[in-house]
Amino acid sequence: MFTRKEIIEILKDSEKNEWLFNFADKIRKENVGDGVHLRGLIEFSNICKRECKYCGLRAPNKNIQRYRILVDEILEYAKNAVNLGYKTIVLQSGEDEYFDRKKICEIIEKIKELDVALTLSIGERSYDDYKAFKDSGADRYLIRIETTDKNLYKKMHPHMDYENRIRCLKDLKKLGYETGTGCLVGLPDQTIESLADDILFFKELDADMVGVGPFIPHPDTPLRDEFGGNFDLARKVMALVRLELSDINIPATTAMETLNPNGRILALQSGANVVMPNVTTTEYRAKYEIYPNKICINENPNQCRGCIEGKIKAIGRFVSQDKGFRRGK
Ligand code: SAH
Repeated sequence: MFTRKEIIEILKDSEKNEWLFNFADKIRKENVGDGVHLRGLIEFSNICKRECKYCGLRAPNKNIQRYRILVDEILEYAKNAVNLGYKTIVLQSGEDEYFDRKKICEIIEKIKELDVALTLSIGERSYDDYKAFKDSGADRYLIRIETTDKNLYKKMHPHMDYENRIRCLKDLKKLGYETGTGCLVGLPDQTIESLADDILFFKELDADMVGVGPFIPHPDTPLRDEFGGNFDLARKVMALVRLELSDINIPATTAMETLNPNGRILALQSGANVVMPNVTTTEYRAKYEIYPNKICINENPNQCRGCIEGKIKAIGRFVSQDKGFRRGK
């Protein structure tokens, strides 16, 4: 819809904010309607071998109590979520090698018996792993590129390789997953130009889902003293994604609500059509601390379900009853 130059101009001009948010809301309504898809999120392990500079789960962080939720307990949360009306389960974790191909396949097969869509968000794996997960029934996969600025990517992700992350995204697309990606907004030294490139990257990949969230500095990471991302800038990147990829799924991210008490609703009114409430119990919520001040850490799955539905109805939208695949596919 826009050229790179126009995207940059819009991102830089704060007088265009309201126009952009309203435009994205209109395009959202025309293309994906008023239904909001709820995805039940199970953060099943906070153990991670990576050292991403911004993330509280990074391996060198010793100030975090690590946990793993095993298959039987994962299934309990999934069943409870299905009883609460969720049509999609999202399994997210750090890059925890305990969960090898066989274990993940077993979890997928058991969850798929519940007749729900299943999304994985467990990081970089081999083509053969992704293929095995798909063959076991996984429908979608989320792996954010985080930033398309290769220098910044390198600085933020020690011992990781940008090209491998791209390889993952391409493999997932090739295998027929609904493929989700996304970026962080407000990383140190991140430029507006690179955010425009992120948006164009999502379009080129033809991402089926794009999650955009502000970077929130975590006290137990090397980025503790940096400025965090700006709420409105993250919302603008998200709104532009809606304009460029009009029929995809876009979550109102939890990180947005951490910066603004009404953040997810504002996001739903600026292009988003998905919310991912946590469906585990309180003992794990606080420990999956990718960033500080995560919302709803003292709520249970039932409360979260009721709370978010109330908010969705209050803005004249409704909770979608279908599995929420990308429209037109
Ligand atoms: N290990 C998986 C899941 C990562 S957690 C993977 O690599 O894909 C999900 C997302 O949380 C990350 O992709 C990242 O964009 C976001 N995140 C991590 N640390 C953050 C922080 N400090 N502030 C905001 N978002 C953060």
